[in-house]
Amino acid sequence: MPFSAATPATGVTAALVDGGRGSEHDFAMLGRKANGAFVLVEQDELKDIEGLFKEYAEAAEIESRAFAAGVAGVVYVGSRPNSLLYRHNVSVGVKNTRPMLVMERDAGLRAVRLLRAGHGLTLTAILDLDTGGPYETWNVVAEIPGTTKADEIVVIGAHLDSWDLGDGALDNGANAVMVIDIARQFVRLGIRPTRTVRFVMWNGEEQGMEGSFGYVRSHARELDKHVMSASLDIGCGRVQGFFTGARPELVSLVERATAPVAGLGPFKITDAPLVGTDNFDFMLQGIANVVFDQESASYGPNYHARSDTYDKCDIRVLRQNAMVVAAFVFGFATMPDALPRQSRPDIEGIMKRTDLEQQMRSMGMWDGWAAGTRGRKP
Ligand SMILES: [Zn+2]
Repeated sequence: MPFSAATPATGVTAALVDGGRGSEHDFAMLGRKANGAFVLVEQDELKDIEGLFKEYAEAAEIESRAFAAGVAGVVYVGSRPNSLLYRHNVSVGVKNTRPMLVMERDAGLRAVRLLRAGHGLTLTAILDLDTGGPYETWNVVAEIPGTTKADEIVVIGAHLDSWDLGDGALDNGANAVMVIDIARQFVRLGIRPTRTVRFVMWNGEEQGMEGSFGYVRSHARELDKHVMSASLDIGCGRVQGFFTGARPELVSLVERATAPVAGLGPFKITDAPLVGTDNFDFMLQGIANVVFDQESASYGPNYHARSDTYDKCDIRVLRQNAMVVAAFVFGFATMPDALPRQSRPDIEGIMKRTDLEQQMRSMGMWDGWAAGTRGRKP
């Protein structure tokens, strides 16, 4: 698993025990048997975005129980069919010290059956890992200066990097090229909105939205003048709506911006905050932010896996999405209204009203905010 620790060259050999679904009850049933063992945890097959968020949310709880029980490591039954290796990464990230594994689904389910039939199993894991040091990388930023309000900024972005096992077409190549395409069309058509539009290819998104975190630090002095930061990161399914970050006053602005492309809807506006992509640091800075909601299409079954290849995208849908996104960007870059930047207490208000804090904790994003090293200062 991503963030697994290596083993000694001779490997780690330990009993493989049935950890059920990793619930509190399952670990209570295992009792002392979990100590020093590899605990096998069964998973649902991941088919859609709902399943994806369920995996994110469960990982932290399963792993905290397992680590408290003193396991040698956790072995997840792969959540994708056949021999496609996938399971969300270790919840504690780089702080993890244990070997953590995904067993391809068919073999994993067979091991579950054998254990439940009373057979004892032993697992030897040999993980020969090279751990690289930090490295430097860059966002790519292009802008079209605004005409009369050039100091006010609308950001549209998608991330340039991709996940280690992923080919990166759905996540997030298709959306990155769309952002480039929209910039080209603005230039080709001579479109100059009143506000400045920044087209951004984020980098280091997969390591914890490092590129957008870097942007809000580098552009700290301009943040009061950012009126919108919109992100695309949910594959290449049809844009079916917008996540507006628990700011009800944003909803009517989104409707107004996208009115010219209403015929490509219907669009559903979900006024909830999303953690997990490059809108996040803008949200923590109090800037109006949107994530485009896309139909799951081929995203759920292929996200972050070797099967995330270009054949999973439909070029007609991508072109249609480009129209919706372009209208959105043009709308926010020209409409008279703009939402003011929120204060830290305003942002804390979102945390109180929604599950934002819980999402941040399960994604390992809480500590920076709590310590004041990430997000708007008091
Ligand atoms: Zn992504």
